[in-house]
Amino acid sequence: MSKKKRIAVLGATGSIGKSSLDIISRTKENFEVILLSAKSSKSRLEEFSKQFPRAVCVLTERDGINKLLPLIKELKPDITINGIAGAAGLKPSLAAIESGSDLALANKETIVMAGQIVIRLAKENNVKIIPVDSEHSAIFHLMRAYSQTNDAISGIFLTASGGPFRDFSFQEMENVTVKEALCHPTWNMGAKITIDSASMANKGLEIIEACHLFNINPDKIKVVIHPQSIIHSMIRLRNGVIYAQMSKPDMRHPIHDALYWPVTESSGLEPLDFDSLTLDFYKPDIQKFPMLKYAWHAAEKGELYPCAYNAANEEAAAAFLEEKIKFTDIPRITEHVLQADWHGDVFNLDIILKADTDARFKANSFIKSI
Ligand code: MG
Repeated sequence: MSKKKRIAVLGATGSIGKSSLDIISRTKENFEVILLSAKSSKSRLEEFSKQFPRAVCVLTERDGINKLLPLIKELKPDITINGIAGAAGLKPSLAAIESGSDLALANKETIVMAGQIVIRLAKENNVKIIPVDSEHSAIFHLMRAYSQTNDAISGIFLTASGGPFRDFSFQEMENVTVKEALCHPTWNMGAKITIDSASMANKGLEIIEACHLFNINPDKIKVVIHPQSIIHSMIRLRNGVIYAQMSKPDMRHPIHDALYWPVTESSGLEPLDFDSLTLDFYKPDIQKFPMLKYAWHAAEKGELYPCAYNAANEEAAAAFLEEKIKFTDIPRITEHVLQADWHGDVFNLDIILKADTDARFKANSFIKSI
């Protein structure tokens, strides 16, 4: 790389942010961090700003998201890593694209809530959206390597670890504690996404995300339980051949690939060793994990249904973390919210944001009645 890539890291103190800064620190000669944002954790952000003295640092909880958005537009990063958790990540993604910055996207909600707007805006601004979610990163790179056109793809296999309750019965899941749900077998992530992994809402969001990112129908997306999280996802071409992407489960891989895209560079990360490797695959039980079923439903219905799914789940997961509801109430709340009418214009951001607010209101009314 001849010129340093100028990078913004949003959500710098979260797990994606920390892994990103680790990758950047390994090869500082290639990158310059120009903007760092975090929701809270002032002391951590101050540490980072010492490490990256040329970066502007924003604390969104104190300064507000409205301070961050114009900074993105003013600084015009070459690439923006969006590792913000939840719906709060949408506006920063839009600001990055509008500034002409490529977007290394770990924030699923950006695509789930406003996929059509985001993809159109990216085309208009000639910027690339490079997925950082391990599954979508795998598919993105596999498609680039093996399929010339979208028509060549006959299916996508999203792998899922199955989370800590893979072998629990639905009855057993009724009584799980927050602590149990926060113990993820393979990935070390933030609280919300860990709860989503346990309920498989995370995989549900990924189904919706994949439909938008790869312009593929929901019925072509399969979920495969793969507890070891070695295969990050697979594509199947029309000739029946399946290609898989494999590595140790380490989020630094997809982050590295996004930061260096379109170049393949040495990562220095530990390679996969086949000497004692076992790979297992199971079919997911959608009766036990209804969040998968509702995600396919929301993806099929389109319009504002995915936004409603996301909002309902976000409120339900938060209520579970606050011990206001049972774990198995998360899908009940989501199902209840999805029963409302979520037709509407997906190209109108105000309508999307209103659907998000309405869905949260419905979810919370239902939570109060439980
Ligand atoms: Mg993922």
